Formats: sequence, structure tokens, C-alpha cells
Amino acid sequence: DSTGVEGKSFAIGTDTTFAPFEFRQDGELVGIDMDLINEIAEEEGFSVDIRSLGFDAALQSLQSNQVDGVIAGMSITEERQQVFDFSDPYFESGIQMAVAEGDDEISGYEDLAGKRVAVKTGTEGQAFAESIKDQYGFTVVAFAQSAQMYDDVKSGGSVAVFDDYPVLAYGVASGNGLKTVTEKEAGSSYGFAVNKGTNQELLAAFNSGLAELKASGEYDEIMDRYLEAGA
Ligand code: GLN
Repeated sequence: DSTGVEGKSFAIGTDTTFAPFEFRQDGELVGIDMDLINEIAEEEGFSVDIRSLGFDAALQSLQSNQVDGVIAGMSITEERQQVFDFSDPYFESGIQMAVAEGDDEISGYEDLAGKRVAVKTGTEGQAFAESIKDQYGFTVVAFAQSAQMYDDVKSGGSVAVFDDYPVLAYGVASGNGLKTVTEKEAGSSYGFAVNKGTNQELLAAFNSGLAELKASGEYDEIMDRYLEAGA
């Protein structure tokens, strides 16, 4: 299935820790995004050089053409579609709020008045928190990495975190010391991104490989592998 990418190598930016989509296991980068991109590359005959950069850094690297594509649980938003071209969606997400496990004071947005909330720089979670912060009277602090954001809640610097629900579910199930307290807000789906107007063969190859993985049942196997393990 040649779409002009055969034999080529592409630099792919990703997040550092965004389990179950990308995270380290015994030093190796694993997760849904990693399995998808590796299997699609194999299917379509290209190779990938994965760069674990952090979410905002990955998007910036893509914009400055230091990487050819990004797979990072990256939501397909209208704003991003102005500067990036996205693949077909591969996962439906949404935003949720979590607090420290032992916290019985914060159970909804109303309880955030006068408090601080942690988010990750440049994410849909940050955009959502910013969109309601004036209404509920809380402040938002942004961190570059997920670990810093979660630590801020556990240490009490912030009372809550806004993040994608599958990531919160996975973290809570693996005992990260947090619990979710709100229903999930409708969010965007994840897509693989390239710079607008560039690397169109790579984008087409991703879509064709993704369709193959769905048809063969491998897509479901990947999802089950990581989603059953965590949630
Ligand atoms: N899905 C979210 C976004 O695109 C968060 C992605 C991430 O933190 N890796 O903004």
C-alpha cells in the first residue's frame, strides 16, 4: 500500500507522560499512540523517529518543522485546524476534574471559588479551565509536564486538575492519589497532526494505516490492551 512514504523516515513528536497514550515502561516509550504510530508505520512501510518532547514543546516543534508530525493525545480543535492538518479521529475524549483522593471539600466547580487549579500548558484542559475560571472565581496555574501538574494537587498547591478523562481514569486506577469528581465535559477527538499543507503523504498514510488497523481488529486490541489495564 504505497502512498509515497515507503522507505522514508519521519520525526514524530509526542508528550512525555500522558498514560495510557504515551508513557515509559521499563524505560521504553509505550502506549496507545506509540502502538498506533508504530503499527501504521510498519503497515505503510515507513519508519519513525519518536521524540518524547512534552505536549506544548511537541506542537511548537511541529510548527517550526523540527518534527514531521505529532501524536500526543492531541485534540482536533478548530483553533488548531488553522495551523495543522489532522488525520481521521482515532479516539473520542473529553475534560474532567480531579482532586486529591482524601479531599472531601471540593466536589464541583462551585467549590473552586478563591482556589487554585492546575492544568498542562497549551491543552484543551487548560482552555476549559480558563473558560470557566471567572464564572467560578478560581485561578489557573499551568505546568509543562503532567507530573508537575499532578504533584501540585497532591502537595496542596492546587485543589484540582483539569485533564482528559481517559488519562485521569487510567491514573486514578493505577493509584496516583487522585479521584475524579465531575462528569466529563464534551471534548474533541484525538488526531495525528502535521503542519498545515505539509507532509500530506504522511497524513494519507496514517489514515490508510489506521483504517487497516480498524478493519483487522488490531485497533481494538491496542485499545483493550491499555484501557482494560488501567480502568
Ligand atoms: N487532548 C489534550 C489536548 O490536545 C491534551 C493532550 C496532552 O496533554 N498530551 O489539548
